[in-house]
Amino acid sequence: MIEFKDVLKIYPNGTKGLNNVNIKINKGEFVVIVGLSGAGKSTMLRSINRLHEITSGEIIIDGKSITKARGKALLRCRRDIGMIFQNFNLVKRSTVLRNVLSGRVGYHSTIRTLLGLFPKEDINIALNALKRVNLEEKAYSRADELSGGQQQRVSIARALAQEAKFILADEPVASLDPLTTKQVMDDLKRINKDLGITTIVNLHFVDLARQYATRIVGVRAGEIVFDGPVEEATDDV
Ligand code: ADP
Ligand code: ADP
Repeated sequence: MIEFKDVLKIYPNGTKGLNNVNIKINKGEFVVIVGLSGAGKSTMLRSINRLHEITSGEIIIDGKSITKARGKALLRCRRDIGMIFQNFNLVKRSTVLRNVLSGRVGYHSTIRTLLGLFPKEDINIALNALKRVNLEEKAYSRADELSGGQQQRVSIARALAQEAKFILADEPVASLDPLTTKQVMDDLKRINKDLGITTIVNLHFVDLARQYATRIVGVRAGEIVFDGPVEEATDDV
C-alpha cells in the first residue's frame, strides 16, 4: 500500500506542487491520475520514490515511511518501485537486454554492476521480463533501433526485472500514436493483473483512463478533486 499523509510540496521557487494530499492506494490497484498539464500529477509520482523531497507530510509504503528512510533502508524502498517515464529513459546505444538488466543493479554490489557483470540467473530474469512484453527476440538489438512503443515496453520489462512491487508511470504514452498507446497500456494492465503489481499511471486524457483504470484520481492545482471508480468519473474530473 502507498499512503500519502498531508503531503505538501513547495518547489524552491515557491510553486505549490501538492497541497495537503491524502490518499491510500491498495495492493493490486490500477490507478490512473488525470489532470491538465501542471496539475501536479508528476509531482505526486516523483514524491513517492523521492525523486524530490516533499516539504512536509509523510509517504508510507507497505507500512514503512520512505520519507524518513535513510541509506540502505531508502535503497530497499526504492528497489520496490519501478519508474516509467514519457521519454523511456533507456541507454540508447546499449542493447535491450543490458537496459533490462539495469533493473537488477540494486541486487548487487556497485562494482559488479559497473563492470556489467550479471550472473546467469539475472540474464534469465531479464529474458523472462522481455517475454512478458513480447520483445524477447529484440534482446540483442540496440535500444534505439526499436520503435517508441517497443522502447517503452523495454522500460516496463526493466521494472519487471527489478521485481518492482509498484509501477509508477509518468505520462508513459504521451509521445506515442494511438495503436502503440494501446499496446503499452495493454501491457501495463496485463502485468498488473497477472503479477498483482500495484500500478499508478499519469495520463492527460480521461477517455484513456476510463478504458484501463480501476480507480481514477483527478488532480487540479496540487489537490485531489476527484477520487472514485471509473463509472463515476466525468469528462471534467
Ligand atoms: P509536464 O507538464 O509534461 O508534466 P513540465 O513541462 O511541467 O512537464 O515539466 C518538465 C520538467 O520541467 C520537469 O522536470 C519539471 O520538474 C520541470 N519544471 C516544470 N515547471 C517548472 C518550473 N516552473 N520551474 C522549474 N522547473 C519546472
Ligand atoms: P503535471 O505532471 O500534472 O503536468 P507537475 O507535477 O509537473 O504537473 O507540476 C505541478 C506544478 O509544479 C506546476 O505548476 C509546475 O509548473 C510546477 N513544477 C513542477 N516541477 C517544478 C520544478 N522543478 N520547479 C518549480 N516548479 C515546478
